[in-house]
Amino acid sequence: MAGIYIHIPYCKQACHYCDFHFSTNLNTKSDLIEAILKEIELQKDYLLGETIETIYFGGGTPSILSIQELSDVLHKIYENFQISENSEITLEANPDDLGRPKLEELKVAGINRLSIGIQSFDDQILSYFNRAHNSKMALDAVKYAREIGFENISIDLIFGVPNQTLEALKNDLEQALELNTPHVSIYGLTIEEDTVFGKWEKQNKLTPLDEDLAAEHLVLIMDTLAAVGYEQYEISNFCLQGFESKHNSSYWHGKKYLGLGPAAHSYNGVERQFNYAHNIKYIKSIQSDKLPFTIEKLSAEDQVNEAILTQLRLKDGINHADLKQIHDFDLIKERRVLINEFIQKNMLELNGNFLSLTSNGKLLADFITEKLII
Ligand code: SF4
Repeated sequence: MAGIYIHIPYCKQACHYCDFHFSTNLNTKSDLIEAILKEIELQKDYLLGETIETIYFGGGTPSILSIQELSDVLHKIYENFQISENSEITLEANPDDLGRPKLEELKVAGINRLSIGIQSFDDQILSYFNRAHNSKMALDAVKYAREIGFENISIDLIFGVPNQTLEALKNDLEQALELNTPHVSIYGLTIEEDTVFGKWEKQNKLTPLDEDLAAEHLVLIMDTLAAVGYEQYEISNFCLQGFESKHNSSYWHGKKYLGLGPAAHSYNGVERQFNYAHNIKYIKSIQSDKLPFTIEKLSAEDQVNEAILTQLRLKDGINHADLKQIHDFDLIKERRVLINEFIQKNMLELNGNFLSLTSNGKLLADFITEKLII
């Protein structure tokens, strides 16, 4: 089983923290959709006939597409790939795009999972982020989606905002829990260089939240969500039973996937392909029948590091027996002293074949990962 990811590189406006690949100039949109339709045909053999279990429209803002554009892409995928009957078909969407009529059309078009970029229920934070929606739009979007029959709904939140108090975060979490969506993704804000926040930091107009306070935020998030039955199946992802994101889980478990559109990448088990992160170069390349990617062959070392990086973030942790069998790397033997130290400090735990982070370890996940990789 494999997955397909489609990157839609357009947004209404640029959020101040975002360094994803997107443009706010929509003039190339119809050419780009044409190019994606052609790329689907050119890449139809990439997954060697494997059945597709998940389709994921990410971005950018996929909900900026018209229903016609979205349906055209989906039809082309169905024409060229074998899609499993119970496939998970996710659309990332912003609340300001999710009026009732659009939601009804999305349902008819075959979208069965929504990942809604809410980020916060605090209007001051939303405007500080330069988001295009306010909290009322966010609440309405989830309410309408439910009424129209979407059951598999995820919301995205951000914590660790400069000057954000624990009290403010608590309010955000309370609002989120009232919505009772079966999936919640919560990411710590990182200040990236080529963003408005990055510039503000350089000009001393923004001070990132203190690391200790950010760790307290994460503890509050983990405790609050666990208390009402959410499982933290990946450091930033929480779900009620049976509502894990199948698509993202397939990345973390090293399954194959095809990425379409600018900046998308693909993985066939051996190599990773990166599509040009430039809308016009991508379109021109496809128009001249050339696939728009560069290839990165993963060395044995890269593969081990990737497995450690992704699996340590998972609830079950790293399957070190698999790591040894598949990649010929005996993590427990190679990192024995370090692992014992982390176990003694109650940051790692070893259960049979699995090495995982404890709750304490999750607060220092990046530091521990860095120590374990080759
Ligand atoms: S956060 Fe999402 S909506 Fe905002 S600029 Fe980035 S991709 Fe676009």
